[in-house]
Amino acid sequence: MSAAVGERVEFEPVIGLEIHVQLATRTKMFCSCPLSFGEEPNTRTCPVCLGLPGALPVPNSEAVHFALMIALAFGCEIAPRGLFHRKNYFYPDLPKGYQISQYDEPLGRNGRLGDVRIHRVHLEEDAAKLVHASSSGRIHGAEASIVDFNRGGTPLVEIVTEPDLRSPEQAAEFGRLLQATLRRLGVSDVNMEEGSLRIDANVSVRPAGSSELGTKTELKNMNSFRFLERGLAAEIERQRALLSAGEPVVQETLHFDPRSGTLAPLRSKEEAHDYRYFPEPDLVPLVPTEDMIARARQALPELPAERAERFQRELGLAADTARLLAFRFELGDFFELALAAGDGVDARALANWTVNELAARVGDGDPAASPLTAEAFAQLVSLVQQRRISAAAGKDVLDRLVATGGDPHKIVEELGLEMAASDELDSIVDEAIRENADAVAKIRAGKVQAVGAIVGAVMRATRGRADGAEVQRLVREKLGL
Ligand code: ADP
Ligand code: ZN
Ligand code: MG
Repeated sequence: MSAAVGERVEFEPVIGLEIHVQLATRTKMFCSCPLSFGEEPNTRTCPVCLGLPGALPVPNSEAVHFALMIALAFGCEIAPRGLFHRKNYFYPDLPKGYQISQYDEPLGRNGRLGDVRIHRVHLEEDAAKLVHASSSGRIHGAEASIVDFNRGGTPLVEIVTEPDLRSPEQAAEFGRLLQATLRRLGVSDVNMEEGSLRIDANVSVRPAGSSELGTKTELKNMNSFRFLERGLAAEIERQRALLSAGEPVVQETLHFDPRSGTLAPLRSKEEAHDYRYFPEPDLVPLVPTEDMIARARQALPELPAERAERFQRELGLAADTARLLAFRFELGDFFELALAAGDGVDARALANWTVNELAARVGDGDPAASPLTAEAFAQLVSLVQQRRISAAAGKDVLDRLVATGGDPHKIVEELGLEMAASDELDSIVDEAIRENADAVAKIRAGKVQAVGAIVGAVMRATRGRADGAEVQRLVREKLGL
């Protein structure tokens, strides 16, 4: 479809993702070398993953199990029989001259995650890593690169979506759901910076309302969701400008530089026939048995999308709170334990304390690994809820519980944090009003913000044992505001 130059046409972005996930298996895809996490280069290799002549690959059953879990988590159809193929190309990080991958019969097809259809899920092996040496690594005066074969042969699952995404934000949000889902499955570290989760984005634009797909480009290896979003936004703008000027989009692979915000061509797009795919003669077909599929199905936990939905439906949590608890499953697990432990604790208050206060104190860690127990956490939130301690005091108690553990009731007693009783508070407020005559004068002159000075004085006098909102109310009442 084309539009006359100058005519104002609305363009709709169309995005599909290709995702590579390094599996957290004990050993590599086709040999028994352990996976590598930054060891000395070339210490985790053997004749198979170095591609030495005559070495024979043996598929890793744990990798097949993980790949089945992923495919089943998306509700994919499982191929009754899949052939590994050789995907041939030359690159220094590929010692065999080919990568073993699944081609026409991927392990899984026709799945779904959230609103996005999953086209295929297949198993393959990772390439090794090129390390570009500094000037000290020069050979015959030229800049040298070395190959670290430790990564070569790491099991990978490739996930290809249908072109169902319509904006950079939606693509990033889908990426986060995918990451949370794979983390929950426990099949990968899914760390974008370290490369255990790698996302390539295919993007085209088309006149709004059209059902045809435009020519796409591919953005390689975005290493954070923010860059994915920014790279896509920049590329969509570039394509819109081209089409608006009546120029075609060239199908190619692009690299987004997050520092300059620019896109540079990496190479023109290769076609499947460039790879001369043919069946791997050293491997028998991969035939998942009923038993293997049943075992993978049994290993599936409740997934983040379902869990977020359940938290909203059954507990009445706000959507973003439910999502946070479901996406950070350690927080969600701890929340559920505390909910079960603390009879009568309000689910919404507990959830808010979990995603705000607890999350801030454990960072990326697991609260279950801290000295805080789920029971103590539930009791603490109950104390605040019952207004026996103020929210501010509750936060101090939580600091202690996370650092050294203990019983919240005892800590409250020890620190004298029990909320000031109302008659005690009454006289403290009266005194604060007496002692802050200038603030009272300002208030009378119309500067109502000066109430803060009196509230502050009360909070100091009670050493935080009073409820801020209640103090506000009392002060205003007494001053007739
Ligand atoms: P290729 O053969 O170029 O690799 P595929 O058909 O295998 O293309 O699709 C690769 C990825 O690109 C998939 O995620 C798919 O959803 C997406 N995709 C395909 N066509 C388009 C398009 N015109 N615009 C945006 N994304 C697309
Ligand atoms: Zn090996
Ligand atoms: Mg393809």
